[in-house]
Amino acid sequence: MIGTVLKKVFGSKNERELSKLRPIVDEINALEPQVQALTDDQLRAKTRGFRERLDQGAALDEVLPEAFAVVREASIRTLSMRHFDVQLIGGIVLHQGKIAEMKTGEGKTLAATLPAYLNALTGQGVHVVTVNDYLARRDTEWMGVIYRFLGLTVGTIVHGLDDLQRQDAYNADITYGTNNEFGFDYLRDNMKFSPESMVQRAPHYAIVDEVDSILIDEARTPLIISGPVEQATDQLYDETKPKVIKLKKHQDRLIHTIFEEALENLEREGEGEAALQLLLKIKRGDPKNPRFLDLIAQRPGLKKKLEKLEGQLSTQKLLPEIDEDLFCVIEENQNIVELTEKGLKLIYGGHSDDYIVPDLDEELRKIDEDPELTSMEKRTGRQKAEAFYREASDRFHVTRQLIKAYWLFNKDVQYVVKDGQVIIVDEFTGRMMPGRRWSDGLHQAVEAKEGVKVAEENQTLATVTFQNYFRMYEKLAGMTGTADTEAGEFKEIYDLDVMVIPTNEPMIRHDYTDVIYKTEAEKFRAAAEEIKALHKKGQPVLVGTISIDKSEKLSRMLDKAKIKHEVLNAKNHEREAEIVANAGQKGHLTISTNMAGRGTDIVLGEGVKELGGLHIIGTERHESRRVDNQLRGRSGRQGDEGSSRFYLSLEDDLLRIFGGGRMSSIMERLGMEEGEPIEHRMISKAIENAQRKVEAHNFDIRKHLLEYDDVMNKQREVIYKHRREALSGESLRPTIEEMIRELSGNIAQTFADEEALPEEWNLKGLREAVYSQFGFRLKTNRNTMDGLTREGLAELIVASAMKAYEDKEMNFGADEFRGLERMVVLQVVDNLWKEHLLAMDHLKEGIGLRGYGQQDPLVVYKREGFDMFSEMIERIKEETVRFLFRIQIARPEEMAAREKARQEKVTYSHGGEEAKTPVRRAKKKVGRNAPCPCGSGKKYKKCCGK
Ligand code: ADP
Ligand code: MG
Repeated sequence: MIGTVLKKVFGSKNERELSKLRPIVDEINALEPQVQALTDDQLRAKTRGFRERLDQGAALDEVLPEAFAVVREASIRTLSMRHFDVQLIGGIVLHQGKIAEMKTGEGKTLAATLPAYLNALTGQGVHVVTVNDYLARRDTEWMGVIYRFLGLTVGTIVHGLDDLQRQDAYNADITYGTNNEFGFDYLRDNMKFSPESMVQRAPHYAIVDEVDSILIDEARTPLIISGPVEQATDQLYDETKPKVIKLKKHQDRLIHTIFEEALENLEREGEGEAALQLLLKIKRGDPKNPRFLDLIAQRPGLKKKLEKLEGQLSTQKLLPEIDEDLFCVIEENQNIVELTEKGLKLIYGGHSDDYIVPDLDEELRKIDEDPELTSMEKRTGRQKAEAFYREASDRFHVTRQLIKAYWLFNKDVQYVVKDGQVIIVDEFTGRMMPGRRWSDGLHQAVEAKEGVKVAEENQTLATVTFQNYFRMYEKLAGMTGTADTEAGEFKEIYDLDVMVIPTNEPMIRHDYTDVIYKTEAEKFRAAAEEIKALHKKGQPVLVGTISIDKSEKLSRMLDKAKIKHEVLNAKNHEREAEIVANAGQKGHLTISTNMAGRGTDIVLGEGVKELGGLHIIGTERHESRRVDNQLRGRSGRQGDEGSSRFYLSLEDDLLRIFGGGRMSSIMERLGMEEGEPIEHRMISKAIENAQRKVEAHNFDIRKHLLEYDDVMNKQREVIYKHRREALSGESLRPTIEEMIRELSGNIAQTFADEEALPEEWNLKGLREAVYSQFGFRLKTNRNTMDGLTREGLAELIVASAMKAYEDKEMNFGADEFRGLERMVVLQVVDNLWKEHLLAMDHLKEGIGLRGYGQQDPLVVYKREGFDMFSEMIERIKEETVRFLFRIQIARPEEMAAREKARQEKVTYSHGGEEAKTPVRRAKKKVGRNAPCPCGSGKKYKKCCGK
């Protein structure tokens, strides 16, 4: 039966792949009478049986049919749900390490129990990754009934657990949790100072729910653990703000005048050169000016003409003449802003020269070549020039970011202000992302603009992208309703294939074609009319909006019309599940941003089927078609009645910025009247193209992030491996001895010239170097030096150092000294790694600014990054050894305490609720007479233990 359904619906490759799975499904079904006949205890005993078979060398694939049959039977007995055949297919696909595209409402949660159970039989742990804490908890409790019935353990990783609770959850057979928690635990584990406090096991198998949201949308930004930096620029933002406000006032006035002039000109001469030049000025000076946007919307061909003119002037390098009159220029689609000469004068008055960033290389060269200066003077001169350069570029940078904040960022669209904080709203998911910050000072600029406290800058202590985190799993799988459009990216980045699984019942939702209005106002009026009509007959409607701002605007319109409704946006996400769960009830009207309660079930209320099921209205198309499909997918689940329609206007960002000339010319050809919508296949095609363009661009950005992170990733792997070895409990003495040998060799090489006679060697320098590295004076006399080669010299240093090391170890006692070695290695590695991360950040930023001729910045980044990394590795050896040879009274506990104090200051950032939690570690008991772990040097009972 499945075979026929498949053939009807799917293209050949997918179909062929699916038909290969059919025999397995048949096999599972054939086992059903057998498992039905078992008692509960016999069913449970199957788990042990499977494990024994695996121990004896059976492959998971051999156990699969019976294991799936057992899980299905357990589900029937506990939850009264019998996995549909399509869920079995989904389960097999997940087990094979692929993405199963299963539409919303097909029961992905239940489908995942099959591969989760099967793979957990190996005892290596299975992670099921959800988009939020609520779903992690819900799914643990809901599906946990099946697993426990079969004798497996289940755990949940959510925000706010301590290390012991985390260890328990990770040691369970199956662990549910969010992507952020899994990722942060990985980073935190690699900052730990004892193996016992690590929480994760080796990454084995992960099933990622809503996989597109997690591996694509959220993967645009990395996870970061950060701490405060030493040099801060926070007050610079508040100082610069009044200047930018002044700039905005002047520019607004100017734009107003130009606009009036342009209108007059249009009236007189039509869309001629003069009018176009004036309008181009406005486009470049205030691209989001509402009157300007209205004008563009009313004159369909105009936008194209402006873009053409802009392109022409740009190739002829004549844009500066257009910009000359303005104070600053904003290139919206490239996200670039620039102050003009006039703008610089306005805000910096006569001092504007101070704000033009000088050419540092040139300055330094001048200083170096000045014969009048002493070397001391040259040094201070260089320092001054560097400080001046840094200050000027900081000031300039802050100004630019503030301009972006004022011209391009709007409250309740890109961000909200809540409890004195600027919180980003994710444009893809519509969720607030507390803790996540725009980088490069933009967040501080928006904080200054909104008059809230400008936060201190942070520096990275540990970071990983989701791409690189999830690629560590031996096997990765995912499920979602919308994956196929991104199949290319899943393959390229994660090596994941997408399989489209047929629906259990045929889909009967009716998707109407888009309707397009000239202006946004008309569009919303029309949408409101449709809502009113449907609401009147009691049909439930779910309306998707693109921002909080728009959802509130529509809500106000409906309030005026006295239509009862619920609003779901990032501001009230606490009630997300509840609001969405009721969206299918008779007479319910729900306005939602993109978050639209992914993962929560919308069940149709009584009598709703007869009314046509749930109707979806989209009030704007998203940049990503996938996000639109997600919204549509909220209706028509499991063969339900349903329908959907998108309302658009020419003023929508997508059409305005990315629609290009094609859209306007289509509109012109079709003709368009005030208040009259247009519905045409050609337009839908053009929109799809625009979306494809934007998505390709977004993919490029994500790939770019990844290319840079891949450089870091190799380094991170080396460092984390080093750390883990240090923590493994094996003695580090052989490693240290090797370091001593290498360092001794280096010293001998530097100071003993092979060509020269030993008498001519720089022995003074040599002894100093040995002292600085090992903390003892090398004893040399005529006897020892006689006939010595360079290798012999190195051996002499090694022997003396080994002796000194041996003495140190005797003083402390071998066991204690082993602990000490461990602490020193970890501390040195962490400190230098932290510095290295900062340096790599600077390198990345700098590479964009420095001109590299024809060189690919990524290549430069790789090469320089590698050099810096090699240097760091050398320094790790030097500092570890230097530290160990000098260490006197410090005890491991003290160092651990210092380390602890450092870790408590860190911040976590990415989306979700996980932000800003201090690390909590398992507490160890301290003896009353032991030194206090706070590092004071006093006894515990006299210090913190009082
Ligand atoms: P998805 O994640 O695919 O959108 P869910 O896992 O949230 O879907 O399940 C949607 C609904 O379908 C839930 O109410 C669930 O109880 C129900 N369901 C899933 N599988 C079955 C089944 N085999 N039999 C009966 N109901 C099921
Ligand atoms: Mg789900």
